[in-house]
Amino acid sequence: MAYDPGNIFAKILRSELPAYKVYEDDRVLAFLDIMPRAAGHVLVIPKAPARNLLDVAAGDLAAVMAVAQHIAQAQMQVFEAEGITLTQHNEKAGGQEVFHLHVHVIPRHAGVELRP
Ligand code: C5P
Repeated sequence: MAYDPGNIFAKILRSELPAYKVYEDDRVLAFLDIMPRAAGHVLVIPKAPARNLLDVAAGDLAAVMAVAQHIAQAQMQVFEAEGITLTQHNEKAGGQEVFHLHVHVIPRHAGVELRP
């Protein structure tokens, strides 16, 4: 499937839409999910166009995952999390709603279910 530069995260990358950024470098952006499934829910995306896991360049995927690891380590401290859940959806049948690759990084606490 082709990459659509009109997707919401592409607009955030072009500063056409706002986002609460928590990390940025030349290759990766991380920002708070607008509908957090738990406090501190962060999305990590590559700056390069990639629809999802199926077309992302290996170097961009590695950069995204390295940032996801740093975000997770920070969430453990900042939110006193007891664990971290990563989720990542690919294509509509895989649960993807925004068609720019993103990894959800979600702080978890024992016995607390994710919000729907
Ligand atoms: O993985 P999936 O594509 O289903 O998730 C998209 C995520 O993008 C949702 O968690 C949604 O809350 C988030 N979102 C956002 N800011 C927007 C639009 C969607 O954080 N402007």
